[in-house]
Amino acid sequence: MEKADNNIYPVFSKILKRSDKETLLNQKGKVIWLSGLSGSGKTTIAKELEKGLHQRGFICQVLDGDNIRSGVNNNLGFSLEDRLENIRRIAEISKIFINCGIITINSFISPTEKIRAIAKEIIGANDFISVFVNAPVSVCEQRDVKGLYKKARAGEIRNFTGVDTVFEPMVNPDIELHTDRMSVADSVKKIIDHVLPLISMHGKKE
Ligand code: ADP
Repeated sequence: MEKADNNIYPVFSKILKRSDKETLLNQKGKVIWLSGLSGSGKTTIAKELEKGLHQRGFICQVLDGDNIRSGVNNNLGFSLEDRLENIRRIAEISKIFINCGIITINSFISPTEKIRAIAKEIIGANDFISVFVNAPVSVCEQRDVKGLYKKARAGEIRNFTGVDTVFEPMVNPDIELHTDRMSVADSVKKIIDHVLPLISMHGKKE
């Protein structure tokens, strides 16, 4: 009989390490995780943040409902169980990106401490930068960018965070943005100032 170890190939010694890829890209992979109510400004800030970091020479990938819920997670809904699975997969995908040295900017409501803790645990505390995009429900509802609050109030959408499920305020986020009284530019600057030392190799791109 063939010995089992005949079929084992020591590929790991040949696979490039995360640090090799980070050196090539001249940056460190991190996850910048934006949490907040629908309409609080996550998507707007994520896009401007990606532009700002790109201009400074950093390669990023924005992960949000558009590219995750419409694709890899299109079989998930908004029950608590599905929200947990949604976040678990997003965190695992983020980990693949950071292992390639890429910075991911994640824009998801992530409404509970439990959900955020799962994401942080999968990604690793060292690579996880939490951002609370904090605007009162009343302001988000007034903005109602996608008309979702109106639909939720009319009972056309169930389990809508801020209307019939709670958003648990974040305890000790790395960064907090009060988008009801801060401009988009100020919010982006606050994140960039915080993350630059964490994503730079030897401070080269600062
Ligand atoms: P989310 O992704 O959290 O659902 P969006 O970014 O899609 O939120 O929508 C937020 C809306 O609020 C946008 O229309 C944006 O232009 C507006 N807005 C007004 N002030 C701000 C601010 N200071 N920061 C972010 N968005 C703001």
